[in-house]
Amino acid sequence: MTTLENHHRLIIVGSGPAGLTAAIYAARAELAPLVIEGLAAGGQLMQTTEIENYPGFPNGLQGPELMINFRDQAERFGAKFLTDDVSEVDLTATPKVIRVHNTTYTADAVIVSTGATARTIGLESEAQLMGHGVSTCATCDGYFFRDKELIVVGGGDSAMEEATFLTKFATKVTIVHRRDTYRASKIMLERARANEKVEFIEWAAVTEVLDDGTGAVTGVTITDTRDGSTRRVDAGGLFVAIGHDPNTKLFLGQLDTDENGYLATDSPSTRTNLDGVFACGDVQDHTYRQAITAAGSGCAAALDAERWLAAIGDVDPAIEANHDDVAQSVAG
Ligand code: NAP
Repeated sequence: MTTLENHHRLIIVGSGPAGLTAAIYAARAELAPLVIEGLAAGGQLMQTTEIENYPGFPNGLQGPELMINFRDQAERFGAKFLTDDVSEVDLTATPKVIRVHNTTYTADAVIVSTGATARTIGLESEAQLMGHGVSTCATCDGYFFRDKELIVVGGGDSAMEEATFLTKFATKVTIVHRRDTYRASKIMLERARANEKVEFIEWAAVTEVLDDGTGAVTGVTITDTRDGSTRRVDAGGLFVAIGHDPNTKLFLGQLDTDENGYLATDSPSTRTNLDGVFACGDVQDHTYRQAITAAGSGCAAALDAERWLAAIGDVDPAIEANHDDVAQSVAG
């Protein structure tokens, strides 16, 4: 059941740099947004350690610390937070419906900022050493691997780009790919091949990450994908660059996606195909995927939502009266 307290002018789903920046701007516009921040609040930066490329922090800071700062700033201006995952949405309804377990929330406008999740190989050792020698983001962590030999897993543009980028720091970068043909564009593949610090191991999968017992990566076990034979390759770090999955599951069938599965927006705005629904951050950006670009698009989404809400004016009282019906239709 919904009540009037469960109705908001604006609900923001997701709490990475995009969602929290949207919350800061929307709160300062006196929209009193509700941020449904998810159980894994704060997004991908909660899994990183030091962040040195976020402007304004010349000495760097920890990822979780940055996200706490974002959140505190939003709260200071009146954003409210719900620490839970959304179970179901109907963004085609008026007002828009967001269900969290048995509670139904409604909103005039919604900002979707659910981010993306880096794909991982799925190894126990990979999970244990994530952030301690294993990374899914060369731009974030490459600097910490100066003068080391590194492994990059993947055969797409991300793997080529990350491997090439990592040669700035590493003495050698070995790309491990499970076949001998590549999804990467020709130009990026050729650039990696032309780099004398880059080597390739084809028909190979990383099947274990090895460490010295103190949490420092010392190498990987690779398994030949044709005959199953294994061998050890020494390395001081592993970068997994096998793609990202945008967190769109809740919205499929309601919000349009682009050819890569990311939410489609009417660029340069953050408008989706549904009136009053805006998308920002990594859930709609597979190109840049930086905290600062996500924050920028969160700001744009809040401004877009604010203008859209101003244009529709005050909420129709009939919509308010309709809340219980909406709640029942979603529940049932
Ligand atoms: P991608 O094109 O989907 O490539 C993923 C790669 O990882 C594939 O080679 C795949 O192997 C491999 N892979 C997937 N799962 C694996 C697993 N479990 N174990 C081992 N290998 C696995 O992803 P992406 O490289 O992140 O690129 C995504 C999109 O962003 C693309 O459209 C790309 O062009 C774009 N992008 C562009 C740039 C740029 O232009 N600067 C940079 C980065 C990304 P298989 O080939 O065998 O499936």
